[in-house]
Amino acid sequence: ITESNPLKTINDEIFVYVTKKQKEIDELKKLELFRREFLADVSHEFKTPIFAAQGFIHTLLDGAMDDENVRERFLIKAAKNLDSLDVLVKDLLVLSQMETGDIKMNIAPIDIRLLALNIFSRLENIAKDKDVTFKVKPDELAEVWVLADADRMEQVMLNLIENAVKYGNEGGKVIVHFSEGKKFVEIAVRDNGPGIPHEHLNRIFERFYRIDKSRSKEIGGTGLGLAIVKHILNAHDTKIAVMSKPEKGTTFSFKLEKAYISPASESIPEAAA
Ligand code: ADP
Repeated sequence: ITESNPLKTINDEIFVYVTKKQKEIDELKKLELFRREFLADVSHEFKTPIFAAQGFIHTLLDGAMDDENVRERFLIKAAKNLDSLDVLVKDLLVLSQMETGDIKMNIAPIDIRLLALNIFSRLENIAKDKDVTFKVKPDELAEVWVLADADRMEQVMLNLIENAVKYGNEGGKVIVHFSEGKKFVEIAVRDNGPGIPHEHLNRIFERFYRIDKSRSKEIGGTGLGLAIVKHILNAHDTKIAVMSKPEKGTTFSFKLEKAYISPASESIPEAAA
């Protein structure tokens, strides 16, 4: 068979066609498997809080209601499970909107340092409970303006800072560090907690992936936080990186484009005149 042999050419074309088709079939099979696994995961995640809430409520209806102490305890537990279901539904909605591209991104200059400080105040109570201290660094920075969607970036920072508190140590430290380059700002959220074992590092961004399932559930995690973070940062054309050392802590970091003109500085010349 030579290069010019027409039979070989036809065979080659058929071969290329078949491989292409096979690739498409493989891709579809993969998608179908992913869809089925996802549905199974979602159903499982829903079942747990529903069964638990049902259990507490039925036990009350079956007579436990008469005991005042039991009544209050069981109602609190039922409510807690319904609250986690609510968070789960909201997280799933955000994730599916991000994945289908249904969320319209509104990219504008935001002061991400101020955003971090606002989140510190929002998380004040859970930080107090664990005696965790918050800090932004370096100290001398007053404002850090970047281009981002304010609501989505709030979600990213909330998930990362809340995780740092939830999975960090009692009496630990959470630092949000900004490094300004020429065009980009790198934002790093650091904790000095137990760290994430190496073998889990590239899996924690998968939905419903948790290192310690029971611990994470007890803490109130849905397993969707980091998947949402990854999607939001993708939509900002950037990526999340993670570094972790056992017993030393974990750092999540990403870069955002700098916003050179801040709305505040635009009005300065007039005000100064
Ligand atoms: P969850 O809703 O369970 O918190 P996430 O997607 O936010 O889910 O995080 C996935 C898993 O990664 C968590 O269950 C936890 O085991 C681990 N993790 C996330 N952030 C940290 C951190 N700062 N330190 C240690 N482990 C972490």
